[in-house]
Amino acid sequence: MAEFENQHAVISGGGSGIGLATARLLREGRARVTVLDLADSGAQEIGAAFHRADVSDAEAIDAIAEQLEAEHPPTILVTCAGVLQRTRTPEKLGLSEWDRMIAVHLRGTYACCRSFGGRMARRGAGSIVTIASVAGIGTGPLHGYGPAKAAIAHLSKGLAAEWGPSGVRVNCVAPGFTETPALDRGLDAGALDGGRLAAASALRRLVAPAEVAQAIAFLAGPRASAITGTVLPVDAGYLVAGDWSAYGGLRDIEGAPLGPLA
Ligand code: NAP
Repeated sequence: MAEFENQHAVISGGGSGIGLATARLLREGRARVTVLDLADSGAQEIGAAFHRADVSDAEAIDAIAEQLEAEHPPTILVTCAGVLQRTRTPEKLGLSEWDRMIAVHLRGTYACCRSFGGRMARRGAGSIVTIASVAGIGTGPLHGYGPAKAAIAHLSKGLAAEWGPSGVRVNCVAPGFTETPALDRGLDAGALDGGRLAAASALRRLVAPAEVAQAIAFLAGPRASAITGTVLPVDAGYLVAGDWSAYGGLRDIEGAPLGPLA
């Protein structure tokens, strides 16, 4: 039997990037997939149902959850909806942009978890994967996005403890710099330098959306049946390599002769 046969996965932000790659992978595993997004940029092409929704609109999310509960009760929730923040000093990051970061990421994740996860808990089964970021583990000039992502990781652990006794697992994936339309916009605008991002990662490259989707699918599915409350970086080694800049950066040993061990 296919891994996600008889499962119904709801994926916020499933119309693009990491969410779309996840929707595609779960469809390949024979899941029924429903995408919640601002616009349908590809969900229907892969056979997913689509609902236009802003995840920060808690009432709209709850109405969709109520409708889906009556039609095909969702068994998996993946909260991918998000917007990357412009790098700004606090003096230049106004409160409306800051509020939007918190609203889309933290409020949106909580609203989706509350509506879909709460119903899963009542039914006694389900699996949730939230999306944080390496930017919520280390720090950078992202004073709205970073704290919102850190809070999502914390929220996920709390919900894992809250709903574990009801048979609902909650895990979190923290992607590194992933080649999605959102990241491309940052690269195109010159706000980010792809070469520098790759060089700062142990694997010396960016992450593909399909690689993040594999981790999400693993945590969402039956192979992770005893895993809850975890935060899994999928970052090509960005987090472990960052501190090496204090020692002159990562070494390039390509072509170096093998000498005796000291
Ligand atoms: P993406 O390609 O832009 O996909 C995100 C999707 O979410 C888009 O379809 C976007 O619609 C939608 N969305 C934005 N705001 C929404 C809202 N309020 N309600 C519903 N849908 C909304 O971005 P991505 O890179 O795949 O990002 C997916 C998630 O991974 C985000 O949470 C992001 O923060 C996180 N992440 C990404 C990276 C990276 O390097 N790409 C790294 C770490 C974490 P629009 O296109 O219309 O805005």
